[in-house]
Amino acid sequence: MTCEDAHLKMHDYISGELAEEHHRPLMDHMDECPNCREFFRQTANIQTTMRGFMQYEAPFELQAAVSSILANA
Ligand SMILES: [Zn+2]
Repeated sequence: MTCEDAHLKMHDYISGELAEEHHRPLMDHMDECPNCREFFRQTANIQTTMRGFMQYEAPFELQAAVSSILANA
């Protein structure tokens, strides 16, 4: 996966539109790529903030994924 692919998939992932089979490759890429980890962190923060305004609760799986990425950043 290229960084460009990863960035596109992150948006879909955060909005819950990424097919489950693409989750693992995306996570694997972020494990290896600090740039994409940082990009994901910022994107997730923005999305989470926006969702907070909309009273939206992120699914548990997403919260856990974001927490584990933030912990490894
Ligand atoms: Zn990358």
